[in-house]
Amino acid sequence: MSAPFNFSAGPAMLPAEVMKQAQEEFLNWNNLGISVMEISHRDPAFIRLAEQAEQDLRELMAIPDNYQVLFMHGGGRGQFSAVPQNIAGPNATVDYLNCGIWSEFAIREAQKYVQHVNVVGAAEQTEQGKALAPRERWQLSDNAAYFHYCPNETVDGIALHDIPDVQAPIVADMSSNILSEPLDVSRFGIIYAGAQKNIGPSGFAITIVREDLLGHAQGNTSTIMDYTVQAKERSMYNTPNTFAWYLSALVFQWLKRQGGVAAMGEVNRAKAAKLYDFIDSSDFYRNPVHPNYRSRMNVPFLLADERLDGDFLKQAAQAGLIGLKGHRFVGGMRASIYNAMPLAGVEALVDFMREFERKA
Ligand code: PMP
Repeated sequence: MSAPFNFSAGPAMLPAEVMKQAQEEFLNWNNLGISVMEISHRDPAFIRLAEQAEQDLRELMAIPDNYQVLFMHGGGRGQFSAVPQNIAGPNATVDYLNCGIWSEFAIREAQKYVQHVNVVGAAEQTEQGKALAPRERWQLSDNAAYFHYCPNETVDGIALHDIPDVQAPIVADMSSNILSEPLDVSRFGIIYAGAQKNIGPSGFAITIVREDLLGHAQGNTSTIMDYTVQAKERSMYNTPNTFAWYLSALVFQWLKRQGGVAAMGEVNRAKAAKLYDFIDSSDFYRNPVHPNYRSRMNVPFLLADERLDGDFLKQAAQAGLIGLKGHRFVGGMRASIYNAMPLAGVEALVDFMREFERKA
């Protein structure tokens, strides 16, 4: 049986080439006769891997020298608490744009550590579909320690394609869109991402933090979540997730071979356009998001008759198209089309959707 196309939102598919390489060197990494999982993180061979991974990520994202790159524990949600603890005092005011479910979780977490969490605006229903409150209506604070938003909301498939124009340092949860297109990192105070979509295995996170934001952690911040400690210790304050770090390093090298984020951005645009164009051309399928706010990574869609959802998912799986069930909070379908999903996967999905509609 040929491998299915896996549209899972995360943990998501990884490039086949990367998985194959990991398999080939699983028992004998770097000619050491043992797995990369079985050596010390302080071993010079692992340190070389770790440093190369950072250098590759810096190159891929053109990360300026005044930013630290941290390899953190605890996935995306770990950063929901790490951010307020690290860069806002307990009496501070912080601004959050509520872009959807993941923003809401981030807001709730911030409320534990910071006294004034100001929600500046939220996702809303418009005649053309779900959108975000426009910038003119945001109720920004004068003195926010930071402004937090999620440029790609994985569940609703809502994206903010322009970097917000705000005074406070911008913190972005890029768990589901990091490395998917070129980005001006210098516009951000912090970028963080759980790894399990565009980077590698789950439970791991990458945090890119501007150096002037370091050194302000609240006194009771747990040490493994303290950016300043992790920066000083090169993300090895305690034993890091070495296998996740290794796989992420392979993904970064794969990305470089593909031509980096510029090339990925083009493919990702082509994939998203193909799927949205088809959905828009049909009365049988519908995407609930305003065209200006549509994600290029997560494409939710609904069938006109939801009683067919079960058949759709079953037949899709039989056709080798898996992971299409929408998030349990919103239902329907969702195709997650991160970097590792080739255009051929989206073409196969569109062909299947067309055929399913014809037969229904
Ligand atoms: N932020 C976003 C945008 C996400 O999509 C997710 C997970 N799907 C998270 C945060 C949480 O990540 P984790 O499960 O790694 O904590």
